[in-house]
Amino acid sequence: MAKSNQKTPAFHAEAIQKALLEWYDRYKRDLPWRRTKDPYAIFVSEMMLQQTQVKTVIPYYERFLKELPNWSALAKAKEEKVLKLWEGLGYYRRARNLQAAAQKVIADFHGHLPQTREGIVELPGVGQYSAGAVLSIAFQKPEPLVDGNVIRVFSRLFVLRGNLKVGENHKKVWDIARQLLPPKRPGDFNQALMELGATVCLPEQPQCLLCPLYAHCEGAQRGIQYELPEMAKAAKTVEVPMAALLVDQKGKLFVRKRSEEEKWLKGMWEFPSAEGRTHEEARSILEKEFGVQSEPKPRKDVKHQITHHKIHLSLYAAKAKKEIRINSTAKWVTSAELEKLPFSSAQGKLRQWVLTSYFQETELLPKIKKARKR
Ligand code: SF4
Repeated sequence: MAKSNQKTPAFHAEAIQKALLEWYDRYKRDLPWRRTKDPYAIFVSEMMLQQTQVKTVIPYYERFLKELPNWSALAKAKEEKVLKLWEGLGYYRRARNLQAAAQKVIADFHGHLPQTREGIVELPGVGQYSAGAVLSIAFQKPEPLVDGNVIRVFSRLFVLRGNLKVGENHKKVWDIARQLLPPKRPGDFNQALMELGATVCLPEQPQCLLCPLYAHCEGAQRGIQYELPEMAKAAKTVEVPMAALLVDQKGKLFVRKRSEEEKWLKGMWEFPSAEGRTHEEARSILEKEFGVQSEPKPRKDVKHQITHHKIHLSLYAAKAKKEIRINSTAKWVTSAELEKLPFSSAQGKLRQWVLTSYFQETELLPKIKKARKR
């Protein structure tokens, strides 16, 4: 465990609270989840906001709440529907966890979100950050939170050095968050801190002259705010060649659902895909698995980044050499059915291409239309 390299800074908590809350009251963004007190809606927003920007989340949040307005609707929904509503938002595990959390709230907590940190972290997908966010915002509990924004603000405000995401340094950040939290309006204070990080204390260009905490900010006073936070070296990017198969038969296309054993994107549908050291190897894995003959040149290439993995996904048209077995997780679909399935972003780009260019190129469109009429 990394040892802390700094003392707890001295600060005037009340003055910081006052300055930040006054700024928040005046300048906070009008966001849909700030207009509700419904713990379910706040919980959904917090799950969506993990690693995702506010402006991306808004339309997803609104659609999700419209389709699945409460714990019970979410708990009972088909997983495919939940994933479809999440399609394009990424980190799909969050969607599956959210549904599992709803099922647990119904089964173990009589349809009410637990109101303690120990209780709420029992729910799938709820870590210490989400616990603090939901408890303080939905229930006004004096529970702190720490996320990337808070780490950045604190590192500059108090000149905290070293990697603040691990070990004793990380604990120190939590201690400060706890000490700084006002007993009144803890939810607003937590949101104000994150809002400051998202809109003023920006990673590359902190807007110090607009900052309500400028007078309290040691980093800005010393002119060293640009050096902070000190981050650990980013993980090295790993290139991942992947192949996917496009098999058509009588106007229908072959797709499958990713299994529980997959590393990524469990439960999402796709044109069958595989990883390899090269595209050639990935293509040959798929040919063996499905008994197909594929074209050597891809019809479409897309790139996508998941964490530090850079995925190069190539789609190969293929013909079945024998009948492909179908079941509940592998099937032939029409273009209309294809559009309704939850696809990941990268596979979604392939689907988009298939639904437009490929059908035109192969003159498959008339066949598909005929199949849809049947
Ligand atoms: S004064 Fe500048 S560096 Fe300090 S908290 Fe505000 S924006 Fe961040």
